[in-house]
Amino acid sequence: MPDTILAIAAHPGDALFTMGTTVAQHIRNGGRGVFLSLSLGERGHKTIPPKEYGEMQRAATEKAAKILGAETAFLTYPDAEIPLHDEASFAVCDAIRQFKPALVVTHWSGSWHKDHQNCHALVRDALFYAGLPAITRERPAHSVGKLFFAENWEDMTNFQPDTYLDISAVYDRWLEACAAFPMWRGETGFRYHDYYRSLAVMRGCLGGFQYAVALMSDPEQRSARVRSLL
Ligand SMILES: [Zn+2]
Repeated sequence: MPDTILAIAAHPGDALFTMGTTVAQHIRNGGRGVFLSLSLGERGHKTIPPKEYGEMQRAATEKAAKILGAETAFLTYPDAEIPLHDEASFAVCDAIRQFKPALVVTHWSGSWHKDHQNCHALVRDALFYAGLPAITRERPAHSVGKLFFAENWEDMTNFQPDTYLDISAVYDRWLEACAAFPMWRGETGFRYHDYYRSLAVMRGCLGGFQYAVALMSDPEQRSARVRSLL
């Protein structure tokens, strides 16, 4: 089984727009990628009723994931009401134990959006629970080696990227995947398409690639243990 990346987002759009290239690049490198959405983002459209929009979001996620060769999973908490409690942390913990990722990418905590803040906190607790053998769940413990936070226009408070990933090889395919979402085209107000494709160009300039995604590593994993500085 190749190494797995698990992208955990509050809403499907966050998963594909901000974590999609990271997952797609990993798949292109021979790995496995899974998108886990904690809600369907069903309350995000001004005119389409939530039930209908939620199903559109689910279908768009599945279509986009298929284009990228990724898998999908959903926890369907109510959009705008993703809860912050242990039951939800354990649900995310169960997903981590199920998919056994080597790396998790999720929201940064510095967000104005409460669903994004809660997702960040749930993932932190879930990673802790997932790796603890004494936490008895259906599946055995699984420790995740690496944790990264994605660049998201709604999560920019104190976001400090330290890792630039070359996504040039998957950029076009990722754009095709994101186009499955009505919101990508600007239907919900924000110009996602313009923002995220421009961001890939800008991060590419800084990273030394044609297109890049900038990630922030978990401060815990930034410590280097060395015997010599040179
Ligand atoms: Zn969101």
